Amino acid sequence: MTNSITTNIATFKKQIPEQVTLVAVSKTKPIEDLQEAYSAGQRIFGENKIQEMAEKWEKLPKDIEWHMIGHVQTNKVKYMAPFVHLIHAVDSFRLLNEINKQALKNNRIIHCLLQLKIAEEDSKFGLSLRDLTSILKHPELSDLKNVMITGFMGMATFTSNENQLKNEFSYLKEQFSIFKKEIDQPNVQLNTLSMGMSGDYSIAISCGSTMIRVGSAIFGARNYRK
Ligand SMILES: *Cc1c(COP(=O)(O)O)cnc(C)c1O
Repeated sequence: MTNSITTNIATFKKQIPEQVTLVAVSKTKPIEDLQEAYSAGQRIFGENKIQEMAEKWEKLPKDIEWHMIGHVQTNKVKYMAPFVHLIHAVDSFRLLNEINKQALKNNRIIHCLLQLKIAEEDSKFGLSLRDLTSILKHPELSDLKNVMITGFMGMATFTSNENQLKNEFSYLKEQFSIFKKEIDQPNVQLNTLSMGMSGDYSIAISCGSTMIRVGSAIFGARNYRK
């Protein structure tokens, strides 16, 4: 790593437009790295494992907003329900139902994004447009009073082909705009479009992203050997 976490955060804050929220993706990184980012003013952190996020939440200042950016197993929702701020990758009505149940137990409203599959690779999680539509038009959605669907999330194909990235992000933005106009439900307020990571955030922003999830460009490369 050449630059410090502090420098990287400052550079991002200067670089990105005011309406774009920076989520610092701290998965696999030690507490000290998060503390350095916190001291640099960062208050929004993204993790992809519930247990790791809960351990970090316990140790760090309570004014941090914790975002779950990874795939969520229904039986683990209860471990983050007391504190999670935004769940980025909701991909079924069943999961939404469980989030609602656990949010109610904690007397909270949990914000969620629906993940639309935009990449061409099969390995990426996410909903087809059809399944996303059926969640938003589900007859029981309005009963889930302890969840608020605040937007969509997407992960583009891992490629350096800028045209392809642009097409995938633009498609997500287009669907977001269509549903924003169309859906009129008290617990659906579409204002957040989470797209863009270290390698593709500038293209994502040019395509209408309002929230970028940046890991390695802030904290350096991840080492998955533990
Ligand atoms: C790890 C991860 C990121 C951040 O990836 P970088 O390339 O390190 O910026 C963003 N979004 C999701 C869903 C991730 O799992």
